[in-house]
Amino acid sequence: MQKELLAHPVFAMAAEQFDSVADFLQLPDDLRERCKWPKRLISVAVPVKLDDGTTKVFYGHRVQHHLTRGPVKGGLRYHPAVDLGEVAALAMWMNWKCALMDLPYGGGKGGIACDPRNMSRGELERLTRRFTMEMLPFISPEIDVMAPDMGTNEQTMAWMTDTYSSHMGYLVPSIVTGKPLGMQGSAGRTQATGHGVAFLASNALQRLGISLTQATAIVQGFGNVGSHTAATLSSFGVKITGIADASGALWNAGGIDVVALREYVAANGVILGFPGADAIDAEEMLCMPCDILAPAALDRVIHAGNAARLRCKILAEGANGPTTPEADRIIAERGDIFVIPDILCNAGGVTVSYFEWVQNFQRFQWNEREVITKLETMMQRAFEKVTSYAERHKIGQRTAAQAIAIKTVADAKALRGLFP
Ligand code: NAD
Repeated sequence: MQKELLAHPVFAMAAEQFDSVADFLQLPDDLRERCKWPKRLISVAVPVKLDDGTTKVFYGHRVQHHLTRGPVKGGLRYHPAVDLGEVAALAMWMNWKCALMDLPYGGGKGGIACDPRNMSRGELERLTRRFTMEMLPFISPEIDVMAPDMGTNEQTMAWMTDTYSSHMGYLVPSIVTGKPLGMQGSAGRTQATGHGVAFLASNALQRLGISLTQATAIVQGFGNVGSHTAATLSSFGVKITGIADASGALWNAGGIDVVALREYVAANGVILGFPGADAIDAEEMLCMPCDILAPAALDRVIHAGNAARLRCKILAEGANGPTTPEADRIIAERGDIFVIPDILCNAGGVTVSYFEWVQNFQRFQWNEREVITKLETMMQRAFEKVTSYAERHKIGQRTAAQAIAIKTVADAKALRGLFP
């Protein structure tokens, strides 16, 4: 493999995390090499007829990190900055997340370099269908199951399902997850990630002896993950004092009315100007005192420049990769923040995606209560596994989560052995 193709700061971060955990686990060199580098890098040219009659060639990537424990699972994003190295890092994290949650999957991620905000619905449909066609030799419900990510949504998944099913000659709903409910999507999928973040944050509060109704939270991001995290925490009785999105940040020491804010965002698109809170500097908000800080927007927002100034008791990572390795070291030295690492904290989404895949094979639909109950059971189990491993080995929660995940994959590879 041309490893230089993966040069990207996010891949460097994932690789650094892998190396330090592999050292901790004392993984032998051959297994280390097989667990670190992706199995398949797939890049395709995707020619699309635009509305003005011209043809534009887009470039799409899919990284299948490993298939040792089952098909790869992971999102497909549409964004101008999509880069093979970043996609590979996200695939590696998906691999760990699935292993930690004990889902029968490897990790995958994909993306097309495009700007969906400047494309018509027709252009997006043609792009999606052509990309799915280019991927036909590499996907199936037993090989690679995609899902929505940044810039894609349930409509994208409906087009992918239709393209794949048209090729096969019969409906194959299990080819992707995150489908609309009317196309055999799963109840509970939309709120799954945010619900999982809030559920684990409430478990952490319990461990620290803080009651839900005495607790406060700050949430960065008010999209899918952030809004459901804030709404669920609020429904548990937690006071949400700070919320930020790309337009700015809001503060209300008495608690932000999340339901009213959702209605405001539905009407105005952004949180800026919401009358029920004051504006605050977005960077400063992250360092305000609170029980729970939930970064649920971007990667690398907790860094060497602000880690020492955080005043939260729990860091509940809704986003992927929100904390840099330097910040991690600072937080570990401080020793006063309970970290719920991303691969555990935001695993609710992939877990309910797995439920959707299972329901599609069963040709049976579970109701929302069944989905959320099963989700909470699995997240609770993973949370307890991580906290007890961390205590037993006297290591941080992130290292514990990654160590469990990487060992699960390494053990599966060792058990299967090498063919031939
Ligand atoms: P989204 O596009 O629905 O929402 C993103 C939010 O972040 C928006 O409110 C946006 O305004 C805000 N944002 C953007 N730039 C910001 C900035 N500079 N400061 C503050 N807020 C900013 O995305 P999402 O699906 O909620 O995903 C958020 C994060 O969670 C990503 O890291 C994603 O990879 C991760 N994640 C999502 C899921 C899922 O099921 N959606 C699952 C696991 C992990």
